Parts: sequence; C-alpha cells; structure tokens
Amino acid sequence: MIYADYNATAPLKPQAREAMLAALDLGPVNPSSVHSAGRAARAIVEKARGQVGAAIGSRAEDIVFTSGGTESLALAIQGAVAGLNGAATLIVSAIEHDAATKAAAHSGVPVETAYVLPIGQVDLDDLRSRLASWDRALKGTPILVLMLANNETGILQPVAEAAALIREAGGLTVCDAVQGLGKVAVNVALLGVDYLALSAHKVGGPQGAGALWHRAGAPLKAVQYGGGQERGLRSGTENVAAIAGFGAVMSPNVLNLTQYGSLSTLRDTMEARLKSEGGVTVIGEGSPRLAGVSCFARPGFRAETQVMALDLAGVCISAGSACSSGKVKRSLVLMAMGADDALAESAIRTSFGWNSRPEDFTRVADAWIEAARRTVLKETV
Ligand code: PLP
Repeated sequence: MIYADYNATAPLKPQAREAMLAALDLGPVNPSSVHSAGRAARAIVEKARGQVGAAIGSRAEDIVFTSGGTESLALAIQGAVAGLNGAATLIVSAIEHDAATKAAAHSGVPVETAYVLPIGQVDLDDLRSRLASWDRALKGTPILVLMLANNETGILQPVAEAAALIREAGGLTVCDAVQGLGKVAVNVALLGVDYLALSAHKVGGPQGAGALWHRAGAPLKAVQYGGGQERGLRSGTENVAAIAGFGAVMSPNVLNLTQYGSLSTLRDTMEARLKSEGGVTVIGEGSPRLAGVSCFARPGFRAETQVMALDLAGVCISAGSACSSGKVKRSLVLMAMGADDALAESAIRTSFGWNSRPEDFTRVADAWIEAARRTVLKETV
C-alpha cells in the first residue's frame, strides 16, 4: 500500500509509540490524583507541555491540552468570544477548515468572510480596508481566524502580516496551525498571533491529543465545564498516553523540518510528469506551499472516481473536499480561489511526510496516469 494522505493523518512515529507505551505501562494514572501514581502521570503531562511549548517558542504554562485540532479551535474561537463577553465580530478566511468555520458559526457573534486571492492566499488589501472602516461600537473587537497552511492545497498564508494588521486595529488573531506544525517553522512570537491551534496526529503523534496556545493575557474563557483541569480552561481527565506521544514528537530532530522540506523535489518531479503526461492543473503551483502536498485537478475526471481508482491500485489519497462521511463535494477551497466547477470537482490531494519514500511519488504518478488512461485520457491518446 502506498500512503499519500498525510494531511488526513500521519503514521505514528516510533518516538511517539515508545512514549505512549511507557505511559500506558504506568497502569491506572490520573494526573489529578494526589497519590504517587497520579504524580507520575502529572510529570508526564507537564514534560509534554514543555516539549510542545518549546516547539512553538512558547512558555509551557501557555499551552492547554485538548483532544485535537477541532477542540483547540472551538476553545480558541468560542473562548475568545466568551472572554470578550460577545462584543466581537469574527473574520474567518474563506478557506478555513470546517472545525474553524463551524466553531465560528456557533459562536453567537456575527461572522464575516476574509476573501482569498486566486493564488490561494488571504487578500490582505481587503482585510486592511475592512479594518480601516471598522465600527468598533457596532461590531466590537475584530477576531481574525486564519490558518497557517491549507489542508487541501498546502498553500501557506501570510499569517504574520495579517496578524499585524489586526493587532494595529486592536483585534485578535486565531491561527489554525494544524497543518503547519512540523512542516514549516512555527513560532508564536514571530507570527504575532493570540491563539494557535495544534494537533498531534498530523505530525506523527497520536490521534486524540492537541493543544491550544494562547498569549498570556489574551481573553479566553472555558467552553466546557467540569473538574477544572488545564487551569480550568479544558475540563476532563487528560489523555496521558496520547499527550506523552504528542510531546515525544516535538523536539527539533524528531519534527525534522529539513527532511520534510526535502520532499518538495520529489513532489515537483511528480507534478511535472502529471502535467506533461496527464494534463493536470497543479493548484497553487506558484504560491508558497507545503513541501509534501500536491493538489491537482483534471477537468472531466471526477475527484471521487480518481480516489476510487487509486484505491484499487493500492494508493491512498484524498479528494481535497472529502467530508467525514467520505462523500466528495466540490472543493470549497478551490471555489474560494475562483476556480470553476470543472476544476473544483476534479481536484485531488496527495500528501506525503516523514515516512514517504521516493518510490511512493513515482507509484502515485504511475497509478494516476494508468487510471486516467482508462478514463479521461482515452479520448486524447
Ligand atoms: N484544521 C485543519 C487545517 C485540519 O486539516 C484539521 C484536520 O483535518 C483540523 C483542523 C482538525 O484537526 P483534528 O483532526 O485534530 O481535530
């Protein structure tokens, strides 16, 4: 099997597995218990907090552990709105993940859309002029929700520039760094954001662990209540083993940005072949994007058909627009970039990562060209 769906979830790294097994072998542990077993669990959670903090240039105490990216975004968006007592308007980019758009839609405050340019990046001029005429008395604090890297296209967003505009306007920025962590350098001070959402399973950590970083002093209220864990910001017994696994993949040599960056050469070779032999359009080709992601489209060859054909050939990829039910819709991300229906219906995403081999790229291209020859290319060959 060739796995080219790292943006959906990455294989577990051995360092995460080892740390998780060690945590599981401790036996029944609850970090809130005061006895020795509880204290051992607490030590694991606090070590991981330091590791996650160090990976993004933050203090350990500004990290809140959650169950993943979705929960981190809900806490950031709804918790910021609650912290401002609802005196806020959200500005959500048109290409955000559903975890962000739906948390915003359920936040109880008005939501505006930050448009993106055809190159796939948020339109900073639009944002600037929107903020210049911001009626604070009417709309409250502007809260921008902008991802670091798009999950479908891999296109990187100008987060630092956007956050600077928001800061000048007295607003706040929530950054979804779920797809950026471990792929590009992430430093909260350099980004200048107020909240940053992370997820372990996209970088070789386990599913079921994530984190929200928040700037000290940024408005934030809990959105779920209970035992008061995580300094009252995220009640619920911590997933100790998953948190241990998360922490274990956060050191620079395990994250290994250099290795991830080197994937772009293999990706570019694959894309060159798909373009010349398959006539595909590469989405975001001229934009800064994640090294291991290739989103491409071939009008007339439906994304769903491509995913199934590649699956039969033993290759796992995604339609950029797949939802949790597995149904494929037109890609809203591509539509937001101004792509026409034919392109948006035929875009697929291949994504590679820490355990991808050079031959995986070749096999993906072979399988795609073979599938295309049987269907869409048969009219032209
Ligand atoms: N944000 C982005 C950009 C994502 O790609 C995902 C997962 O696909 C999420 C948020 C949600 O993360 P999780 O699966 O950890 O809840």
